[in-house]
Amino acid sequence: MSGRAPVWDPALDELASTMRAAVFTGPSRPLEMTTVARPEPGAGEVLVRVAACGLCHTDLHYMDHGVPTFKTPPLVLGHEISGTVMRVGTGVDQARVGTAVLLAPVTSCGACVMCRNGRENVCAKGRMLGNNIDGGFAEYVVAPARDAFAVPDSIPLEESCVIADALTTAFHGVTRRAKVEPGEVVAVIGCGGLGLNGLQVLSELHREKPELPVVILSARSDVQTKLRGFDLGANDYLAKPFSFDELVARVRAILRRAAPGRVERESAVIRHGDLVVDAGRREARVGDTEVQLAPKEFDLLWELLDHRGLVLTRDQLLERVWGYTFAGDTRTVDVHVRQLRRKLGEASPIVTVWGVGYKVGPARNPVA
Ligand SMILES: [Zn+2]
Ligand SMILES: [Zn+2]
Repeated sequence: MSGRAPVWDPALDELASTMRAAVFTGPSRPLEMTTVARPEPGAGEVLVRVAACGLCHTDLHYMDHGVPTFKTPPLVLGHEISGTVMRVGTGVDQARVGTAVLLAPVTSCGACVMCRNGRENVCAKGRMLGNNIDGGFAEYVVAPARDAFAVPDSIPLEESCVIADALTTAFHGVTRRAKVEPGEVVAVIGCGGLGLNGLQVLSELHREKPELPVVILSARSDVQTKLRGFDLGANDYLAKPFSFDELVARVRAILRRAAPGRVERESAVIRHGDLVVDAGRREARVGDTEVQLAPKEFDLLWELLDHRGLVLTRDQLLERVWGYTFAGDTRTVDVHVRQLRRKLGEASPIVTVWGVGYKVGPARNPVA
């Protein structure tokens, strides 16, 4: 595998007006190796000479499984692209010519609510390479300059193409969606392509946060795969079929070893007047009477009590209790608050702060 593609000198190369491409002409037909017109970059775009393009299962869906592409064939597939910028359209810095880039599989507008929330991969105006527009199974591809990302010299360009889609999917999942933090256990379910990428991301996180416990659940029970998982930083590995009780027991054991702080919290009890909430037993009592709470009701009550004196917005509660990371269905919070009030009756400490969210009010029957 060679290293960085040499910097292209515009003076040395007159680009041909045609290029070779593997063209998709319809389902259940082989890609057609043919010569087509080379695209030119428009305003805000770059022309990239493809170094490598990953073959994604999504491509196989189009080719073999009859999943339709957005653009009617003929179409050049491929959306995991690395390459070198050869030309830039108007409005793009000429200095980008000759630089090594990865292309985001989906173009982004930078302005819609998804883009503004760091979820450019589901941009409302996004167009996917090799699906809505021609992709990377060709010598050249055109893409928006804002979706072309510089590749550091330390990564061989040909090897980096899978970062653009497969690895970033796992990266996004671990860092932005799950927001994995020390003291949390991560279960990677399935060690196929993306699962293994997930593990690679986790092993990098592990280097920074060695206290982060990782458990792998997999259909693969062979020793080689298990050893690979442990090498990548897993604390435990369970092969299917496994009992759920065993999984819970192992996670508890790992938490005891890996995150003593968490155990403190696990055994913590919050008293608020005659309301007593026990995190270890996941029990809520009013005086001597136990109140049966659903898991999310319990978590919501705990989160509010744990932040006594603070107002928490519905979005904050959604994120902390349900794990959503962007404004979602905030009615979910209201419904659970209503349930808590119904179940706790007079003992409910939850106060609505109009237009903001919820907080915990002063304790009833304060303990002396
Ligand atoms: Zn893909
Ligand atoms: Zn957008």
